[in-house]
Amino acid sequence: MTWSRREFLSRSLALLAAAHLPATRLARGSSAFREIRRNVGIFTARGGPIGWLVNPGGTLLVDSQFPDTAAECLAGMEERGALPLQALVNTHHHGDHTGGNGVIRDSTRSIVAHERAVELQRRAAAASTAGAPAVVADTTFTAEWSLGVGDERVKAKHYGVAHTGGDAVVVFENAGVVQMGDLVFHGAFPFVDTAGGASVRGWITTLESVAGEHPEETVFVFGHSAPGLPLTGTRADVLLQRDFLAAALATAERGVAAGRSRAEVLETRALPGFEEYVALADWLTLGSALGAAFDEVSG
Ligand SMILES: [Zn+2]
Repeated sequence: MTWSRREFLSRSLALLAAAHLPATRLARGSSAFREIRRNVGIFTARGGPIGWLVNPGGTLLVDSQFPDTAAECLAGMEERGALPLQALVNTHHHGDHTGGNGVIRDSTRSIVAHERAVELQRRAAAASTAGAPAVVADTTFTAEWSLGVGDERVKAKHYGVAHTGGDAVVVFENAGVVQMGDLVFHGAFPFVDTAGGASVRGWITTLESVAGEHPEETVFVFGHSAPGLPLTGTRADVLLQRDFLAAALATAERGVAAGRSRAEVLETRALPGFEEYVALADWLTLGSALGAAFDEVSG
């Protein structure tokens, strides 16, 4: 059930022709299926990529973007006889990763997430003016969850607080593909969701652990990327995100030690080595990352 390059292309061109999607940097304007390795790939439209596994023994998705794009993804899966899914795994609670849960709900045997992600998703839905009920995971885990899907073994692992309080890293063990959720923003300032339980220190530790547990040839899937940069990359990219967070933390620590105010620390123009990083939204700047680091350091 491998998806040929031509199938991907025809599908993505059809979707491209039908697409009239907002074209901000967080919300790209086209959608496509792309295989990475050994029946594992990603679907991209808006929000974090949806990871997919389609093999003769079963199928699974990782994250669900938004209702409209989840429907597009599901249509592509149905065309290939990939429904029902054995599972949908959420990497964390944010709306651009769980917004399509309701659309996929009836086409999957289970929705899986870290237990804290479910709490955070419910809380966010309750606070939202849209008032839509959250479609949350029915299967939760605290440390690790895993499932055999045909000849693949899929594992979701929580390393501790990082981008949020309930992040999961999803590993396709035989393919050697690791979906990071928003633990990596490739070439862009990361969102430190302090209100959602994030920790810069925890995030640094998490990335070090993940990088240490996977071999050099592993393909990592990122939550977001700067325009022109791919959503996939290597262990070096994972460690570069670690380096950015470490540099932000060090800047905050130096500022606090020198008695500088939060506003003064946030005036930092760039971190050495990360001058090319971009803001994917006007609220997602170097200042937003430094602010989170400053608050964490000043306790
Ligand atoms: Zn996120």
